[in-house]
Amino acid sequence: MKEAKYHKKLPDGQIKCLLCPVGCKLKEGEEGVCMGRKVIDDKLIATNYAQVVSAHVDPIEKKPLYHFHPGELILSVGPNGCNMFCRHCQNWSISQQKQRTMTMMPEELVSLAEKENSTGIAYTYAEPFIWFDYLMDVCPMAHEKGLTNVLVSNGYIHLKPLEELLPHIDAINVDVKSMRDEFYKDVCEGRFRVVKNTVERIVRAGKHIEITYLIITDINDSEAEIKEFIDWLAGLDNTIPIHFSRYFPSYKMNKPTTPIKTLNMAHAVAKNKMKYVYVGNTYIEGTSDTLCPECNNTLVNRSGYFTRVVGIEDGKCSKCKSKVDFVL
Ligand code: SF4
Repeated sequence: MKEAKYHKKLPDGQIKCLLCPVGCKLKEGEEGVCMGRKVIDDKLIATNYAQVVSAHVDPIEKKPLYHFHPGELILSVGPNGCNMFCRHCQNWSISQQKQRTMTMMPEELVSLAEKENSTGIAYTYAEPFIWFDYLMDVCPMAHEKGLTNVLVSNGYIHLKPLEELLPHIDAINVDVKSMRDEFYKDVCEGRFRVVKNTVERIVRAGKHIEITYLIITDINDSEAEIKEFIDWLAGLDNTIPIHFSRYFPSYKMNKPTTPIKTLNMAHAVAKNKMKYVYVGNTYIEGTSDTLCPECNNTLVNRSGYFTRVVGIEDGKCSKCKSKVDFVL
């Protein structure tokens, strides 16, 4: 049993978990709301350590990461549980419900990634930050074998554990759900400020980051909010790839599917300030390929999850020779 890092004992004998802002206070035998940590024999145990709910080899574009090793395959694994409780969760059966898991110790996971000729390991499907103790063991081991570590996350973690984990991570896709704290509170039981801090910290660390924004009808789809989102990101770095994603009714949310015109509006707003903007979960012509921001040469061609790097040579646009923003 692995003792979990980041917690403190309270005067009343309870243990407070300090990994994420949920801040669970737990008595003997109680489990955190993410289902990953539990007090056993007066210790906070990472009960989700090495417990894998799902494992697949996916195109890295599926994370989505479009500018990190394009066209490569990545072994993708996920924990059971999450520290947010989004009413529209697409993966609610593994993020919000207990599921049977398989045990994969760090060395087993790393050797599976090597066997699969994977570019690395993606920690995804549910929330990887609740796997902190596992990640702190697996990620350095993966690096030793020349594999990359990729997170797909809601960004809901305290700064200290984030700082500890970041040196072991190569690329992250953060799901920004809205620019409004009310959205985070009402729809996800989270807080926007924390996610904002996480994104800004990752950018400052110089890590490869891409952002996903799921546009939900009537909730986070106003032009004003999209503008605010883009202004914030453009102020950080206008080369961050943005993935607008089309919402379909799911779990406890039954708002209508996002209209194509809303996705087109978001794409147009973002293109005013950001260099790389994509629309996913549907097909809209001209929103999947990557064009050179200087000369419009097609750098990467994408059809579904079939990806071809067609216009990059030696890290530059093959036509105008300007630098392109890819990790290859
Ligand atoms: S990581 Fe899990 S146990 Fe810890 S505070 Fe967050 S939700 Fe609670």
